[in-house]
Amino acid sequence: MAENLSCEKALEEIRARIATAAKRANRDGDDVSLVAVSKTFDGDAIRPFLTLGQRVFGENRVQEAQGKWPQLRQEYDGISLHLIGPLQSNKAAEAVALFDVIETIDREKIARALAREMRAQDKQLTLFVQVNTGLESQKAGIAPKDAGAFVQFCREELGLSIAGLMCIPPFDQDSGPHFALLNKLAQENDIADLSMGMSADFEIAVGLGATFVRVGTALFGGR
Ligand SMILES: *Cc1c(COP(=O)(O)O)cnc(C)c1O
Repeated sequence: MAENLSCEKALEEIRARIATAAKRANRDGDDVSLVAVSKTFDGDAIRPFLTLGQRVFGENRVQEAQGKWPQLRQEYDGISLHLIGPLQSNKAAEAVALFDVIETIDREKIARALAREMRAQDKQLTLFVQVNTGLESQKAGIAPKDAGAFVQFCREELGLSIAGLMCIPPFDQDSGPHFALLNKLAQENDIADLSMGMSADFEIAVGLGATFVRVGTALFGGR
């Protein structure tokens, strides 16, 4: 979907569906940010969306993002880049330098590495804790029962401000209960933001309180 017109259509449609889902839930559509997930797509596929005013993007690999976003940031102001994939602590320095938001903090080691790098680079990122709501062994994220203690650790031991929670429900289950659980954990821990919902289920997520939805395929086409 590199054509400008089809990008415009896709973007308008997703924004309209977010607005409708928000309205249905008695929410303000402006409280939901669209994270355009541009993983596997190159600068030429991303530029039409930047031209149309989209500014929030998600990437799941540090190295891949390094190959395109420094150039795009030179061309467009106001970009907010979210890391939505797993982070290794040996990539923390590069991640802090490149991203604005890291959504995937899920263990002490990575929290410590980010705290150290943000100090070293004198740069404050917005931080989310990833919760493995489906307790899937192959998936990243902290177990729901440990989320509260982990958030407290990040705040009190490391002085990190945790803005949000993020989850990726099991692909073969209804997302609703997972989104509801994430919302409950956020309320219990005084956390304002919820990153949940992808191309297949973002309207459900908006209905359950998402403040960020991460949409790839429905904007960029298949990967
Ligand atoms: C790829 C990805 C998305 C977007 O998924 P689509 O189904 O293409 O919308 C959202 N969140 C994460 C963490 C991803 O890795």
